[in-house]
This record gives sequence, C-alpha cells and structure tokens, in this order.
Amino acid sequence: MSENYDVVVIGAGAGGLFTAARLQHQGYRVLVVERLDKVGGRASTTDVDGFKVNDGAIVIEVGGVTERTCREVGAPFEIREPSPPILYRIKGKDVDVTGGGWGFLLQKLTRQGAKLVSGIGAARKDDGLPEEEMTLHEWVSKYTKNEGVHGIFRNMAASVFAVGSEDLPARVFLTYFTRKSAFKRFGFHPEGTIGLWKGLAAAFERDGGELRLSTEVGAILLEDDRVAGVRLADGSVVSAPVVVSNVGPAATVRLIGREHVPADYLELVDRADRPTAMLTVNFASRERLIEAPGMLSFASSRRLAYMANYTDVCPEMAPEGWHLYVGTSVPKPSVGEFDEAAEYELLMEDLRDTIPGFDERARILSRVTTKDGWPPQRAVAGYDLTHDTPFAGLWNVGDAVKEYANGGTTACAETAEIVAGKIAQAFTPALV
Ligand SMILES: Cc1cc2nc3c(=O)[nH]c(=O)nc-3n(C[C@H](O)[C@H](O)[C@H](O)COP(=O)(O)OP(=O)(O)OC[C@H]3O[C@@H](n4cnc5c(N)ncnc54)[C@H](O)[C@@H]3O)c2cc1C
Repeated sequence: MSENYDVVVIGAGAGGLFTAARLQHQGYRVLVVERLDKVGGRASTTDVDGFKVNDGAIVIEVGGVTERTCREVGAPFEIREPSPPILYRIKGKDVDVTGGGWGFLLQKLTRQGAKLVSGIGAARKDDGLPEEEMTLHEWVSKYTKNEGVHGIFRNMAASVFAVGSEDLPARVFLTYFTRKSAFKRFGFHPEGTIGLWKGLAAAFERDGGELRLSTEVGAILLEDDRVAGVRLADGSVVSAPVVVSNVGPAATVRLIGREHVPADYLELVDRADRPTAMLTVNFASRERLIEAPGMLSFASSRRLAYMANYTDVCPEMAPEGWHLYVGTSVPKPSVGEFDEAAEYELLMEDLRDTIPGFDERARILSRVTTKDGWPPQRAVAGYDLTHDTPFAGLWNVGDAVKEYANGGTTACAETAEIVAGKIAQAFTPALV
C-alpha cells in the first residue's frame, strides 16, 4: 500500500516551504518531507546557550515576493527593520548613505564616482549592460583603481550573491541593482530566521498540509518520462503526480538515478553545479560593539563582507544583557577549493580591526563554513539552471534555479511563485 498526495515537496527549505504553502492554500493535498528535525534548511537557526544563532540567512527582504507570499498564504511576517538598515565603514567612519543612492556612496571614496554612477545609469537600458563574460571586478576596473570602491563592490557581491566580484558577471550585479527589488528594505526575525519558516509551516499545516520532519526521501520514482512519486528512506512509497524538489538539480538527479536522466540535461546539471562558499563567525558580548543598528559593510577589508547587529531590533535573540552579532566573509576563490584556515585568519584579523579589543570583549559562539553540499548559494548567480526538468510533473525550486540576477531567500520565494503557477496550470487539485 502506498500513500497518495497531489504534490510531494522534497525539503523544507525556503523554496520548498514557499511552494508547499502556496499549493496547499490553493487546495492541493501537499506532503513536505524534510530530512532534518527542523524547518528552514540553510536559512534555519540553532540555539547556542540561549543565543539564536542563524545557520545561514541573516536578513530577510521586506516589501518583496517573500512578504507578499506570506500575506497571500496567511502566514505571519514579523521581520523587524533596523533604521538605518546599513552603515558603510569608509576611512574609519561609519557612514549612513540611506536615500543618497550610488552617487552619495561613491563620492565618499573617489572623485571618479560620477563616471561609475553614469555607468550604472547606462545599465538601466538593455544595450547599456556589459557583455555576459565581463566580471564585476573587470567592470569596476574600467572606471577606477580605487581600492575602497573595489571593496564596496566586492562586499556587495558577497552580501547578496555570496560570491566574489571576480566570479560574478557584472551584468548580473547591474541587472539586480537597476531592475530588481535589490534588498533595499530588510530586517531580522526575533526568533532567528527559523521564525519565518515556522510561521510559514504553521500556515501550511493550518490549511491541511502535512509536514514530516526527520524523514528522508531516498528516491524519486518515474513512470516512463513522468514522475510518479517518491520512495522514503524507510522503503515506503508516496505516490503523487507532482514532485517539487528543493534539494537542487544535482541532488535531484541523484535521487532519480543518473542512468534515467537524458544526457543533455545531465551535462547542464553537471556544468551548473558550482556552489559558492562563505565563512561565518557568530559572537556575542555584554557590551555594544558597533554603532550600526543593523548591518555594517566595508570599503576596506581583507575578507569581512559585513557584520550584523541583531539585538538592537531583536533583543529576544540573546539572553538578557547580551548583544548578538555575526561577521561573514566570502573566501578567495569563492567557488572551488580554498585554504580554510588562512581564510579564517583573514576574517578574524578584520574583526579585530573593526572592533578594538575583540578578543577580550567578544565571546565566539560558533565558526561555520558553508560550502559544497551545504553552500550559501547552490549556483553562482547568472549560471542557474531552469526550474523545469525533462520529466513531466517534476520541478526544482530554490537557490540553484534562481531567476536571472536574483539571490538568497528572495530568489527562492520567486522560484516558488513561478513553479506553483506552472503546477496550477498543468494539474487540477485532488487528481488522485
Ligand atoms: C552564511 C550564509 C548567509 C546567508 N545570508 C543570507 C541572507 O542574509 N539573506 C538571504 O536571503 N539569504 C542568505 N543566504 C542564502 C539562503 O540561506 C539560501 O539561499 C536559502 O536558504 C536556500 O534555500 P533553498 O530552499 O534553496 O534550499 P535549502 O535551504 O538547502 O533547503 C533544502 C532542504 O532539503 C532538505 N533535504 C535535502 N535532501 C533531502 C532528502 N533527500 N529528503 C528530505 N529532505 C532533504 C535539506 O535538509 C534542506 O532543509 C545565506 C546563506 C548562508 C549559508
């Protein structure tokens, strides 16, 4: 005997949960199967001695597809925005450029700022975008050698796309900042980022959806060239005409069995399987360590891309009397092998430079490297695969199949919106 659902979603990460909540809300019978004992995947949160330490995603975009999806499915969206959202440390001062735009930021670094601003302006027209092969680093180098300007662009690429400016197409960056919501507004969840996914999962279950934690999918089952369901690791079978995979195309192909996958699709999957990497230091202090009430980014750092100060707007994230912070970096190279010990040393040196007396004043809660099978982004932006697969009824969602020039949980919510729309067109609820 096998169980029957309209849709099985493999993975309760951002992409999987957004898709599941949308479909269940539209009347499909949806089962979400998650290997871990908690929701949120790479955007979840771990309790460390009473501190809510994020496993991955730190900030959530406000006013975009993430918030809209929560509203549409009746899930809470309790993201608290710091004001100002971000300060930039430029020549030793923490500067608020809110509302001033690129010109205001760049003029603080170089007299060549106006030229760069006009380059960004030109990119607003399609014929003003650079060719696909040019990296962000090469594009900035056309305008200036100024180290601070290069640092700002490198750290923005790291913050949004989890990749260095040497590995990111300039076209992606410029498309993002001239045409997309571009994380202009963002904030933190008071329970840690997991709070967002817990709320979404509760809305999904309220609508009748079923979520099974600590349950692994062992195989995706096919009948000819269409999907038929999944086999769980315990050997039981769940039948469904639609399967949505949140584990990325490479792992999806492994669940299908490479021998069942057309060679041309396999080649695309293998080529796009280029996860990025990030290093994170979570730390706390009884003292306030930075003035920024949200994020602090840098014009000049070895590796430190940004620090986040959680507890100004979300004191619940730390035990009383404590402040909670995180510092992150993208290694060099940001894709492929790198020297982890040396990269941590560079990140720690940056933290010591940023916060005088860091070693005495800060208590390190955890140091986490995300890479390979658990990366900050499964595909370098600009090189994503499509969410479609060669099999009828099978789609991918999440940050390996982002729409062009998008990143993070926002991109995951966007893939969910598109895939749920395609499923609604192709399948009527309660088919089984
Ligand atoms: C350090 C760091 C900082 C980041 N900062 C931000 C940020 O500030 N803002 C932002 O928006 N994004 C940020 N990101 C990126 C963001 O976390 C990811 O883009 C997003 O969480 C990816 O979600 P996903 O849905 O694609 O996949 P995942 O989160 O990977 O979800 C997939 C789920 O599938 C489960 N799974 C895998 N295999 C199986 C199986 N066989 N059976 C059942 N379940 C399975 C996994 O356990 C997982 O829960 C950051 C990431 C990192 C690592």
